[in-house]
Amino acid sequence: MKSSDPLLIVGSIAFDDLDMPTGEHRDVLGGAATYAALASSLVAGPGTRVVGVVGADFPEAHLASLRSRGVDTTGVERAQGQTFRWHGRYSSDLGSRTTLDTQLNVFADFSPKIPAAHKTSSLVLLGNIHPKLQVDVVEQVQRPKLVAADTMNFWISGEPAALAEVLRRIDLLIINDEEARELSGIHNLVRAAADIRKRGPKMLVIKRGEFGSLMFDDAGAFFVPAYPLEEVLDPTGAGDSFAGGLMGYLAARGEISPGIIRKAMFFAAALGSFCVEGIGPSRLLAVTRADLAVRIASFASLVEHGGDLTLPV
Ligand code: AMP
Repeated sequence: MKSSDPLLIVGSIAFDDLDMPTGEHRDVLGGAATYAALASSLVAGPGTRVVGVVGADFPEAHLASLRSRGVDTTGVERAQGQTFRWHGRYSSDLGSRTTLDTQLNVFADFSPKIPAAHKTSSLVLLGNIHPKLQVDVVEQVQRPKLVAADTMNFWISGEPAALAEVLRRIDLLIINDEEARELSGIHNLVRAAADIRKRGPKMLVIKRGEFGSLMFDDAGAFFVPAYPLEEVLDPTGAGDSFAGGLMGYLAARGEISPGIIRKAMFFAAALGSFCVEGIGPSRLLAVTRADLAVRIASFASLVEHGGDLTLPV
């Protein structure tokens, strides 16, 4: 299949060094754009375009592997120098992580240049980059149907004015519960969501890891649980895979409505669940659309209750 709406993803492409309770892994393919593109291409097939930067040390085979999944990598710039590198250590229960080192390298001078052919992308996913660069991307694209963005605490506390401008320019914000609380200054997530939506994005997704995710739009609130897994190996990239899965579903459907966004939430959660089953993106690289169909079916049975929830008399 080919997605009806081309999706443009802008964000980091990285080497990750991962210290997991089960062992240490070095030079793992990573970055928000990588995870999101792998996830969206699983849902939507060809049609995902990535804009990012890698260094001279980045193996062509990694880009070829993205291309083999139908991801268009013509917007990936190869710069002189080393690829962005992130080193994280997870706690023994994988519930928290510490950043041990971030080497921006070529990412420090990243200024996204959207290729002419990508400027008409119908859907745009702005990965977690400087909010000024996110606005820069919005200014380069022509009338997309939907612009979604991610951000992080670092920008919420460090660049509030630039982030406020991002919020005014996007349709969908995808963040986690901590970020929603910090951004709004409100602990209660329902009230935090109302506050954030007043600042721009009509739609807001709040991810809560193993506790599922909430979506707020004009039609109300919606909840999707996290898929219950027996074994979680590595949460790195789960949020980006979630966002890629969600946007991939919208790309494949070719239209946006409250009903379609609600269905997209299941694909988002399914892709997040695949991501955490392997170290780095290994599981995302291994699963097929048939595996995705099976997971979606078991997701449907997870929330299937027979349809009648009237109060017994
Ligand atoms: P997540 O687990 O969804 O937060 O995403 C983890 C990915 O984000 C890793 O593959 C990292 O390479 C990437 N990453 C970590 N720190 C940053 C940063 N400051 N800017 C952009 N990407 C980052």
